[in-house]
Amino acid sequence: METKCKICGEKISLPEDSMAGELVECGSCGMSYEIASINADVVSIKPAENVGEDWGE
Ligand SMILES: [Zn+2]
Repeated sequence: METKCKICGEKISLPEDSMAGELVECGSCGMSYEIASINADVVSIKPAENVGEDWGE
């Protein structure tokens, strides 16, 4: 499975056994996403909200 990064547009490869709620990271820009839902080969992702609060710049 794969999806596309909303920030840089690069493909993000996902293990075939990925499930909704898992965190994935874009290998290109490092953006973290949570898998919102998976329907067949269509993977919906949303920005992960529970990390990065204190990263600073
Ligand atoms: Zn990216």
